[in-house]
Amino acid sequence: ESSAALKVANQPAITKDGHRVEIAANIANLEDAEKAVKLGAEAVGLLRSEFLYMERVTEPSLDEQIKAYSDIIGAMGKDRPVIIRTLDVGGDKPLAYLPLPKEENPFLGERGVRIGINRPSMLRKQVHAILKASHVGHVRIMFPMVSSLDEFRAVKKLVLEEQEKVGVTVEIGIMIEVPSAALLADHFAKEVDFFSIGTNDLTQYTLAIDRGHPKLAARIDGLHPAVLRLIDMTVKAADREGKWTGICGSLASDPVAVPILVGLGVQELSVSVPSLPVVKARVRNLNYAQCQIMAQKALVCDSVEDVRSIKA
Ligand code: PEP
Ligand code: MG
Repeated sequence: ESSAALKVANQPAITKDGHRVEIAANIANLEDAEKAVKLGAEAVGLLRSEFLYMERVTEPSLDEQIKAYSDIIGAMGKDRPVIIRTLDVGGDKPLAYLPLPKEENPFLGERGVRIGINRPSMLRKQVHAILKASHVGHVRIMFPMVSSLDEFRAVKKLVLEEQEKVGVTVEIGIMIEVPSAALLADHFAKEVDFFSIGTNDLTQYTLAIDRGHPKLAARIDGLHPAVLRLIDMTVKAADREGKWTGICGSLASDPVAVPILVGLGVQELSVSVPSLPVVKARVRNLNYAQCQIMAQKALVCDSVEDVRSIKA
C-alpha cells in the first residue's frame, strides 16, 4: 500500500454531517491484529478466542492463554480496546479434547456460553487469563450465544469473582445473536456494559435457516426486516441505559447495510480485516440524517428485496 492510502486508512470514519462511527476489526490471531492496526482498525470488536483451543488435544494452559492474549492486546496498543469473546465452540465446531455428545440439533444444543456454564473450571481459567493480560492494554470481555438473563448472571458472577482475585475490572458485554436476547435487551441493558450484535447467528435463528446451508444460502440475509427490528430494539434498549451497541456479524461490512445500521444508531461496526478501509470509506460518504431516514423506511419494509431497494 502507498503511504497516502495508509494515512487515509488511519483517519476516523465520520459522516459528511459529522457523525462518527467506530470501525473495529474481527480477528482470530496475532497476525490479524498486526494487519488490523495497519489497515486502520480503531479497536477489536471481536477476538474469536477459538484459535487457542482448536487443533490440540489438551486444554491450553493458563500461561499459554495469558501470553496469547497479551501478545494480541500489545499489538493493538493501549488506545485500541480489544473485545475478547470467550470460547464459542459447539454446534458445528468440535474440540478434539472436549468430548461433546452427538446431538440431533447441534445449533440448538450445547454451544457458546452454554459450554462454559457447564464446564465452569474451563471458563474460569479463560476469564482469569484474560484479566491477567488486561494490564497490557484496554480489554473488554464478551460472552457468545447468551439467551437468558440467568446465563448472563452466572458468567458475570464468575467474572466478578476472578476480578476480585486478580485485582482488575473490565467491561463485560454480551453478543446479541439469539432472538430472545434481542427481545429482552431492555433487561440485559441494565446489567451489561455493551452489546455486540452477531448478525450471522441472529439471522440464522430468526429466519430458522442454517447459516451454512448450501441451498438456502441466498435467502439468509441480515437485511430481513425481522432481523432489523431486533437490531433496532437492541440499540434503543442500550441507549436508554447509556450503553453502546456494535455489530460484529458480516452484515457490518455489507455496503447496502452500512447506512441502515448507522441510521439505526449502531455505534461500532466490527468487520473482517480486509474490509476495514472499504467500510471506513463507505461511512465517510454517508449523511447521517439521511441514514436515519433510510433506517426508518427499512423498519417498515415487508421483505429483504424492499429493504435492498431503498434509495438514499
Ligand atoms: C455472528 O454470529 O454474527 C458472529 C459474529 O459470531 P460467529 O460468526 O463467530 O458465530
Ligand atoms: Mg455467532
